[in-house]
Amino acid sequence: MTKIAVIGSGTMGNGIAHVFAQYGHQVALIDLEHKILEKAIDRISQNLDRQIEKGTVLEDDKEEILDRIQTFTQMEEGSKHADIVLEAATENLPIKIEIFQKLDQICPKQTILATNTSSISITKIASATNRPEKVIGMHFMNPVPVMKLVEVIRGYSTSHETVHQILALSRNLDKVPVEVNDYPGFVSNRILLPMINEAITTLFEGIAGVEEIDTVLKLGMAHPMGPLQLADFIGLDVCLSILNVLHEGFGYPKYSPCPLLVNMVQAGHLGMKSGKGFYKYTIGSKEKTVAERFKSNRQY
Ligand code: NAD
Repeated sequence: MTKIAVIGSGTMGNGIAHVFAQYGHQVALIDLEHKILEKAIDRISQNLDRQIEKGTVLEDDKEEILDRIQTFTQMEEGSKHADIVLEAATENLPIKIEIFQKLDQICPKQTILATNTSSISITKIASATNRPEKVIGMHFMNPVPVMKLVEVIRGYSTSHETVHQILALSRNLDKVPVEVNDYPGFVSNRILLPMINEAITTLFEGIAGVEEIDTVLKLGMAHPMGPLQLADFIGLDVCLSILNVLHEGFGYPKYSPCPLLVNMVQAGHLGMKSGKGFYKYTIGSKEKTVAERFKSNRQY
């Protein structure tokens, strides 16, 4: 059993806490407010019920799994005894730097400080601490209890020992870790986001409509979800910020975000979470229809 502190209990943090507790680890789940933490525990409980229905978790184990998760609003209290801290707070550099500076002071010298960031440089985050050899990317995929991959990102100064510990821990969670180096977008988003950006550009230029583009990728390339639906699922603001990281990091015009994506984010059409993106969503239902403005096949 490893003592894990998870910072941030949003979409990813609650999934990460769920999986660690499911595999027998003691979890301190930390967020800014009690009501956010209560929502996270409710979500974990609902997701465990779903696993029980599918037969992947036993009903008798549910309470034990939930009992392994303790919640905290004070980072110091929750992380001072942790063997490993997994930061899954908001994707914002100043927020992450502040968290890592504090963790470096709070946590024992041997504690590994891992981040679930999708796009921020591990090397930059590590430089905010006095233990860059113990700072690493442990990038889970959404939804965490379902997706097998963990992208393990070696910062410029991350030690072999830290990498090996995180590879072993990922396997212990029944995940498949893949080790990559720390450059913008790592591997997952460096490949995924240009594809999404190209799908948006194809729509922008009036080459095809939303459903046509998604159908080509679903039925032609066996993708479980088309790139425009996937962009809505990830969040268009998140897609834009990752493209900006790629564009700034490499300076290649190929990573320049499509102006349609920029406009949609500025208009607050952020995809599933705002109810509107390339599709329109009914809150609380899985149903979606193509958003009004994309119903005709034209340039945008
Ligand atoms: P989210 O907005 O759902 O949750 C972030 C949580 O962090 C919020 O509950 C917020 O209250 C909390 N938080 C902010 N500052 C904090 C602090 N100082 N201390 C404690 N908690 C704090 O975000 P998310 O989608 O869960 O993303 C979290 C991280 O995971 C980001 O780095 C993101 O890039 C990464 N990620 C997201 C996805 C995804 O599909 N959403 C996939 C892979 C990785």
